[in-house]
Amino acid sequence: MIKNTNFFEYHHENMIKNDLIIIKGKVLSWDKSDIEKNYGVNSWSERYFDISQDGKLEVCPNRDELKIPLADIIEEAKSQNVQFPIVLRFHDIIRNQLNEINQAFKRVISEASYNGKYFGVYPIKVNQMREVVEEVIHAGREHDFGLEAGSKPELLAVLAYNDNPNSLTVLNGYKDEEYMRLAMIGRKIGRKVIVIIEKYSELPLLVKVANEMNVKPLIGIRVKLNVDYSGKWAGSAGEKSKFGLSASEVIKCVNFLTEHGLIDCFNLLHFHIGSQVSDIQTFKDAITEAGYYYTKLCLNHGCKLEYIDVGGGLGVDYDGSKRASDSSRNYNIENYVSDIVWGLKQICDLDGVKHPHIVTESGRATVAYHSCVITNVVDTIKTNQNYNTDKKENEHIIVSNMRELFEEEALSEKSYQNIYNEALNIKKESHQAFKLGVLNLDEKAVVETLYQKLIYKISKIVKDLEFVPDGLMSLSNQISVQYLCNFSIFQSIVDHWAIDQLLPIVPLTRLNEEPKNKATIVDITCDSDGKIDKFISRDGVESTLLLHDLKKNEEYLLGIFLTGAYQDVMGDMHNLFGRVSEVHVYGDKSDPSGFYIEEVILGSNSSKVLKTMQYHPEEMAQKIKRLINAQIESSSIAPREGVKLADFYENSLSSYTYLRI
Ligand SMILES: *Cc1c(COP(=O)(O)O)cnc(C)c1O
Repeated sequence: MIKNTNFFEYHHENMIKNDLIIIKGKVLSWDKSDIEKNYGVNSWSERYFDISQDGKLEVCPNRDELKIPLADIIEEAKSQNVQFPIVLRFHDIIRNQLNEINQAFKRVISEASYNGKYFGVYPIKVNQMREVVEEVIHAGREHDFGLEAGSKPELLAVLAYNDNPNSLTVLNGYKDEEYMRLAMIGRKIGRKVIVIIEKYSELPLLVKVANEMNVKPLIGIRVKLNVDYSGKWAGSAGEKSKFGLSASEVIKCVNFLTEHGLIDCFNLLHFHIGSQVSDIQTFKDAITEAGYYYTKLCLNHGCKLEYIDVGGGLGVDYDGSKRASDSSRNYNIENYVSDIVWGLKQICDLDGVKHPHIVTESGRATVAYHSCVITNVVDTIKTNQNYNTDKKENEHIIVSNMRELFEEEALSEKSYQNIYNEALNIKKESHQAFKLGVLNLDEKAVVETLYQKLIYKISKIVKDLEFVPDGLMSLSNQISVQYLCNFSIFQSIVDHWAIDQLLPIVPLTRLNEEPKNKATIVDITCDSDGKIDKFISRDGVESTLLLHDLKKNEEYLLGIFLTGAYQDVMGDMHNLFGRVSEVHVYGDKSDPSGFYIEEVILGSNSSKVLKTMQYHPEEMAQKIKRLINAQIESSSIAPREGVKLADFYENSLSSYTYLRI
C-alpha cells in the first residue's frame, strides 16, 4: 500500500523501522489502518472480533478483555478430527445480542416514562438449529423473551421449547385447521400463544377451532402498511404484499369478533415491513402508521389491544459502512429502539390511549454475528507466467511485436495506456493468426505469456495512480488470482449467490503481512456460479479481496463472517455436499486457552446425502462388491486387492463429503 506521505518525515523513521521501504519519496508499509481498510473488522464486527498484535483474527465472545485467536479454536477442533469446512458457533454472542436489545428497550422505556413493557420474540426461521433456539430461550428467560413460528414444523418446535409461561409465542404464516388446533393446545398448556391473522378467512377458522376445544384464543392481526420500502425483501409490506390485511379487512375482522362476543381476544396489532431495513426512516413511517391503527382501533372500534408487534427488519451492518444500502443500515439498535418507544408514546399521548406493550421479532440482528464458516484454501489458480519466452530464431512478427512491447523501456505513467491498447491489439491478432494456422501452439503460448507479464507490469503503475481510466479498471480482474476454497457457496452462504448478499471475509492469520494478491474466491462445486467476486468495501462493492501468497506446508484459512442468520439453515444440497461440521465454542476466562469446545456435530457423510436422494448406500456397496468379485473370478484383479478396493468404496460412503486436504 503506497502512501503519499512526507518523505523526510519517514526517512528518519525508516532507519529504525525496517519494515518501511521507501521508493521515490513514497513510504511503503502495511499497518493497522491498511488491515482495517482491507478487511474492515472494526467496522462490521460490533466488537465481537478483533485483530491481535501478531496479526491473528480473534473472537471476543463477550466484548470484554477475553480475546481468543480463531486459529487456536481450529487447532483444537482438528485435534478432535473435525475437517474443513467448519462452522464455528459462539453462543455467548447470541446471549450478548439478546441482552443488548432487551437492555436498550428497558433503558429507553424508563427514560421515556413509557407505561408498557417490552416482550421480544425470536423468529426461529432465521436459524432453527435446536442449540440456537435453546440459547435464545435460556439467555432470554430473565427478559421473558419468547419465540415466533411461521409454519407447522416451527410451531411444533416452539410449543415444545418455549417453556416460559410469561413470554409470548407469536404465530405467523398461513394456517390450516391443524395449525390452529396445535396453537390451541399451546393455550391449554398455559402458554401465551398469539395467533396472527394473515388473511381474513383464518379468523372464522380460528374461532371455530377455539370453540370446539373450549379455549379462549389470543388473537393478533397483521396489517398491511403503506410504507415505502425498497429493500431486497420489499414484498413483505405495502399494498401488493402477500401478507396482511387492508384497513377494510381489519374492520371486517373487528366486526366479526364483536358479533361473536370475542373482541376481548383481539390482543395484538402486528406488522412486518421486511428484513434488513437499511433506512431508519422506513421504521419511523411504519411506527407512525401502525400507531394510529392502534389508537383508532382502541378509541373508535371498542378494541382493548394490549400489544403492538413491530415485526423484524432490524438490520445488520455487513459491510461496516453505516449507510442506507442493501448490506448496511444508517442506524444502530439504540436509534431503532428510541424511534419505536418515543414514536408510540407520542401518538398514544396525543390520542389519550394507554401505551401498549411492545413486541419485536428481530431474527437477523439476534443471530447473524454468532456463527462463521472457516474454509481452507486448497489451491490458487493463477495465469501462468512461467512459460519460456526466450527469443527463438525466425520468430513470427506477431510474437516479436508483443516482445517489443513487453521490453519497452518507456513504460511509464504517461505511456502505459497506449502500450496497453497496443498489447490488446496484438493479442487479438495472435488469436486470429492461430485460427488461420499461421501461429503454432508454442508461439501462441509465448504471446499470451508475454501479454500476462506486461499486464502485470502495467497494473503496478496503475495501482499508484489517483485516477484510473475506465478501460483500465478491469486490469485488476485480469491479474486477479482465484483462491479455490473447500466449501460450497450453495450450502454455506446461499444468499451470496441468490441475492448478492455481501459478507465479510478475512484470513485467520498473517494479517500483519501485506497481502499481495488481488483475489476472487471459487468453491468446490461444479457450478460456475460457485464463486465470490463481490466483497465488502466502505466505498461500495469491490470485485477482488487482497489475500496472501500460499506457503508450502502451511494452511491458509479464511473466515466468512456474519453467517448466523438465514445462511446457516437455508443452504441446499447442490453437488450433494450437505451440512457442514459444527463446533460450538464458549469463552471461559478460567481456562488457560480462554475457551472450551462444548460440542462437535459432524457434517454430512456421503451415505447420508445419498439417502436423501433415495439411494441405498448398502446396496450400492454390494453392487460394487459383486462387480469386483466378477473381475477376481476372471483373474483381472487379485483377491487381496479386490477386498481392499471394496473396503475403500465402503469407507468412502461414511466419510465427509468435502475435500480432505
Ligand atoms: C422473517 C420474519 C421476521 C424476521 O425478520 P428479521 O429481519 O430477520 O429480523 C420477523 N417477522 C416475520 C413475520 C418474518 O416473516
